[in-house]
Amino acid sequence: MTNLLDLDAGGLAALFAAMGEKPFRAKQTLHWVHQRLAGDVAAMTDLSKVLREKLAATAEIRGPAVISDTTASDGTRKWLLDVGAGNAVEAVYIPEDDRGTLCISSQAGCALDCAFCSTGKQGFNRNLTTAEIVGQLWHANRALLADGIVSPRSELRSPPPEEAPDLGAARRPAAPWVEHGRAPITNVVMMGMGEPLANFDAVVRALTVFIDDNAYGLSRRRVTLSTSGLVPAIDRLAEACPVALAVSLHAPDDALRDRLVPINQKYPLAELLAACRRYLAHAPRDFVTFEYVMLDGVNDAPAQARALVELVRDVPCKFNLIPFNPFPGTEFRTSARARILAFQRTLADAGLVATIRRTRGDDIDAACGQLAGRVHDRTKRRLFRVRPAAPASTSH
Ligand code: SAH
Ligand code: SF4
Repeated sequence: MTNLLDLDAGGLAALFAAMGEKPFRAKQTLHWVHQRLAGDVAAMTDLSKVLREKLAATAEIRGPAVISDTTASDGTRKWLLDVGAGNAVEAVYIPEDDRGTLCISSQAGCALDCAFCSTGKQGFNRNLTTAEIVGQLWHANRALLADGIVSPRSELRSPPPEEAPDLGAARRPAAPWVEHGRAPITNVVMMGMGEPLANFDAVVRALTVFIDDNAYGLSRRRVTLSTSGLVPAIDRLAEACPVALAVSLHAPDDALRDRLVPINQKYPLAELLAACRRYLAHAPRDFVTFEYVMLDGVNDAPAQARALVELVRDVPCKFNLIPFNPFPGTEFRTSARARILAFQRTLADAGLVATIRRTRGDDIDAACGQLAGRVHDRTKRRLFRVRPAAPASTSH
């Protein structure tokens, strides 16, 4: 069975072409699945009954299986989603005054093994499919709308226009989106479990659905992909589907970054920053966001802030300082508040915008790097070979 959540406009067009159907069926289907958030082919009532039956014989709309659904005291809501074989991934909804952000996962586990990341500590199990990635947004919108939660933003796009030919089928039922006019999720960040650029094709297809006006219609500027720095894939993303880019920097020099973010041994800082500059020629925003996790006594010294200023001199950027979120078994500690503020001040004095990320949802382990679906394959398969002579890693 084809899962309709797996297909972008091109994939749907091919599906309908193979069935001998007109291309506009693809657009109709995108509307039903991603705007009206239909859960069943049978609900797509402006397709003739015959066509619905034909479609239902080969295709379905299969959303994620929800293991748990938890809301934190600050309104952050986390869904733990079953991806089979004892593995789970998480999607986290973060409500703010002017937006609703969904943080989504791209892999079950992660092979990159960053020293301070609980996902990395679990090892890698497998890439998520496009359906599993898109399904997180589909499910979250449905669940929030069912609770009467709509976008807080008033200037959001109006409901989708009426679809092309209504074939006289039953009147379209009022769908949640149509009733409320605004989907609750206005921003997507690929900052959950996994390294999105290590699952390139499935992630790009999902991004395509997120920004398609016939599907979620999110602005490219409101879709952010965070990467630990897979340089060739950053260049490919610029061509395939440029969205806002966040890069996990975490260190001002190669020696430290080699330890904290081991992929740096393959793509060192000079190459990474050059890739960021190239990306900006295609990006929907005119800056890259650098994420920098604040680790007590490791990367938070004033001299390191000054070195960082020098490092990024030629890259238009903003900084997002992330207080380290501890998890069981980690040897790292969160930098003291004063230390983070001093670090921020040094960046600001050099003219760099640096925000300190508010920790959200930490009472339900939904904060960055705390996402902890059970990943049973702990083989720690790596995407690259670690130099045998690497300095003592902090990760083991
Ligand atoms: N794999 C991608 C995206 C997922 S992680 C990446 O690494 O960029 C999203 C962000 O959370 C990254 O910047 C990551 O370095 C950071 N992070 C990981 N573990 C963390 C922790 N324990 N505390 C705070 N931030 C963490
Ligand atoms: Fe993977 Fe990102 Fe965690 Fe590193 S920080 S292990 S790349 S999920």
